[in-house]
Amino acid sequence: MRLVLLGCPGAGKGTQAKFIEEKYAIPQISTGDILRAAVNAKTPFGQQVKQTIDEGGLVSDDIMIELVKERTSQADCQNGFLLDGFPRTIRQAESLWQNKIHLDFVIEVKVPDDELIKRLSGRRVHLKSGRVYHVLYNPPKKAGIDDLTGETLIQRIDDQEETVRNRLAIYHQQTEPLVKYYKDMDEHGQLRYIEIDGTQSMDAVKKEIFNYLDEDSETK
Ligand code: ADP
Ligand code: ADP
Repeated sequence: MRLVLLGCPGAGKGTQAKFIEEKYAIPQISTGDILRAAVNAKTPFGQQVKQTIDEGGLVSDDIMIELVKERTSQADCQNGFLLDGFPRTIRQAESLWQNKIHLDFVIEVKVPDDELIKRLSGRRVHLKSGRVYHVLYNPPKKAGIDDLTGETLIQRIDDQEETVRNRLAIYHQQTEPLVKYYKDMDEHGQLRYIEIDGTQSMDAVKKEIFNYLDEDSETK
């Protein structure tokens, strides 16, 4: 099963990706997590992309396409994978098709901008695993600490309100055209496009996604 999670920054993609990864035993490929790991490790690549990420811009298509091509060719992706944060431009989406990486589902999680700003300002992340929390909506057992490892949670530099507004503008400009792109593919029977109301509770969103995925695999 090959899936893409589509939605604004803060829509809940990373949160749902963890649930899907566990239930369907496919790896989550979060391009944001991969980039942040490189930044944190201060590799030359990380140093090259740090400023763009901190400012909320997009890393170049060429770099991202190569990164995802390499990652999806690894052994753990043989039975499928879940892309979280890729594609973000039409060119990135086209690269999947050109590289014969065909998708089964695109799941769009929809949340209005004002709610996203609240979500991102309270987001805390465990850098190594990509686990996400929210100070009010999904607090860790102990404030500032990851439930599973006991390690410290961080607040992302790009989750400051001004940067968030920039990221949302970029989403609407560069990523939103993917909605039509993938809906057209759905109409041509090339994949299934699923729209989810992401303002529901995390659990309700999860159930809705599972229902769609289970229903579809039963009819195959
Ligand atoms: P994305 O990966 O789309 O940027 P995240 O999964 O990181 O989004 O979620 C953004 C923030 O919103 C996190 O702090 C997360 O805990 C919180 N969150 C995710 N889903 C919900 C939800 N359904 N209701 C309330 N808060 C949520
Ligand atoms: P969110 O889910 O909150 O939008 P991500 O963790 O997916 O954030 O991405 C963080 C940052 O990493 C982006 O703002 C961008 O700078 C960079 N990035 C991640 N994925 C891509 C991509 N597919 N193309 C370009 N830049 C990307």
